[in-house]
Amino acid sequence: MHQFEHGLMWFRRDLRIEDNAALHQALHQCRNLSCVFVFDTDILSALPSSDRRVAFIDDCITVLDHKLRQAGTQLIVRYGTAQQIIPELAQSLNIDAVFAVRDYEPQAHARDTDVADSLKHDGREFFLLKDQVIFEINEILNGQGKPYQVFTAYKNAWLKALRPSHIAAVANEPLLSKLAPVPTGFTTRPSLEDMGFTHPVQPIPVKAGSDGAQALFADFLPRMNTYHERRDFPAIKGPSYLSVHLRFGTISLRELVRAAYTAMQSGSTGAATWLSELIWRDFYFMVLHHFPYVTDHAFRAEYDAIVWESGIEADKNFEAWCNGQTGYPIVDAAMRQLNQTGYMHNRLRMIVASFLTKDLGIDWRRGEQYFSRQLNDFDLAANNGGWQWAASTGCDAQPYFRIFNPIAQSQKFDARGAFIRRYVPEIAGLPDKDIHAPWLAHDTVLAAAQIKLGDRYPMPIVDHRSVRKVTLARYGILKG
Ligand code: FAD
Repeated sequence: MHQFEHGLMWFRRDLRIEDNAALHQALHQCRNLSCVFVFDTDILSALPSSDRRVAFIDDCITVLDHKLRQAGTQLIVRYGTAQQIIPELAQSLNIDAVFAVRDYEPQAHARDTDVADSLKHDGREFFLLKDQVIFEINEILNGQGKPYQVFTAYKNAWLKALRPSHIAAVANEPLLSKLAPVPTGFTTRPSLEDMGFTHPVQPIPVKAGSDGAQALFADFLPRMNTYHERRDFPAIKGPSYLSVHLRFGTISLRELVRAAYTAMQSGSTGAATWLSELIWRDFYFMVLHHFPYVTDHAFRAEYDAIVWESGIEADKNFEAWCNGQTGYPIVDAAMRQLNQTGYMHNRLRMIVASFLTKDLGIDWRRGEQYFSRQLNDFDLAANNGGWQWAASTGCDAQPYFRIFNPIAQSQKFDARGAFIRRYVPEIAGLPDKDIHAPWLAHDTVLAAAQIKLGDRYPMPIVDHRSVRKVTLARYGILKG
């Protein structure tokens, strides 16, 4: 293995030392290693000044920097475009090779190509390593060497290909003595304010950094075996809530898969179901890489012919959906959870996405974009995959005639209305059986709960049964 005198580890969405594959490679190949994180203006300039995620990244950087200081170095933190900063920093530190974790988003790919070109031009190497996924985008292909388009087939091939080496942890701690002290002049760190951001009033309610991720994972482990029974009920602690940590790489995917796979082999159905979700994540990265047009188009081209609702009425409905004011309590509770916390339970993501596209007839891209601004765990691949799944336009999506009934979903997954009451206090006084569709409640029930629909809580903005027919007709053009 070629040895370099001085390397640079460029942290991006892998904000941890522990079991970080790119850092491991860098520590192995370099006699001295410096570390950098870039607050990239190409990404930040599109965000509002109070964005929970930027504050969360800032906190994760603090944790990472603290750990690097314990190891005798410091994280160099820069603000600007990566295309400019990385080659410049490499020049001023006399770097021979830069190491980073591979990113599958088209924009990130373009950025990395630019950075690689500049570094190469200056005679430096650039290495991208696998860490965000278990299998690289071309490692799981079908018999014809093509990407899978059906999840179950992909998952079966994924499980068949899995070897202990794919999920073994890499130990970075014994190699940390190779971290180089940071020269003076490289230690100033831009604050959130310097970058035009404020501290959010409601920060992400999850502890940042790898310690925060470990605490959350430890909390989930005893629940893993019952995941399949509990994951669909938003009022209870069912899922892991680890998505924001997976998003920023403050926990190793290999560690999670190792735990799930081991438990699955001992017969745990909960672990098998949870592992499946982690495989969906790999699947959507693979889809985004092989079919990058999905960022603006339906995966299945014929679905681009669908005519979505537009105009004043559609805009009004879209706004009601964003603000949790549709009159459908489960949809509104979900959207308010998103707006207030930046998280939304998976079952609810499916319900609100179905409601937007199939009850309101609004283009999935508008919902996808709204989610991208609000979600703490926003990830282009999973978000696009989730939206195209719900809108039936995607790769291995649900069929278009499967239209979630928001009342039935609410009755099934929030039967006692506990989740609804948490986020829609205006109707908290309704009995359990009426809370899912307040407009169907008897006048005396509404009066007893002191509710006048259309006053503090709206009447439903559409009638599910009638719009269902419109939706079937809208998608019906695909049969012709
Ligand atoms: P758990 O149930 O504990 O699952 C563990 C992990 O598996 C998650 O953290 C996530 O990394 C992964 N995962 C779970 N379900 C999926 C899935 N369907 N697709 C891909 N990965 C999955 N997930 C995101 O991480 N970012 C997004 O931007 C995103 N947008 C979505 C949009 C829609 C319309 C839908 C239907 C789903 C979306 N998901 C997204 C998937 C899923 O809803 C979240 O990953 C999950 O709710 C996160 O909560 P958790 O960590 O408690 O999940």
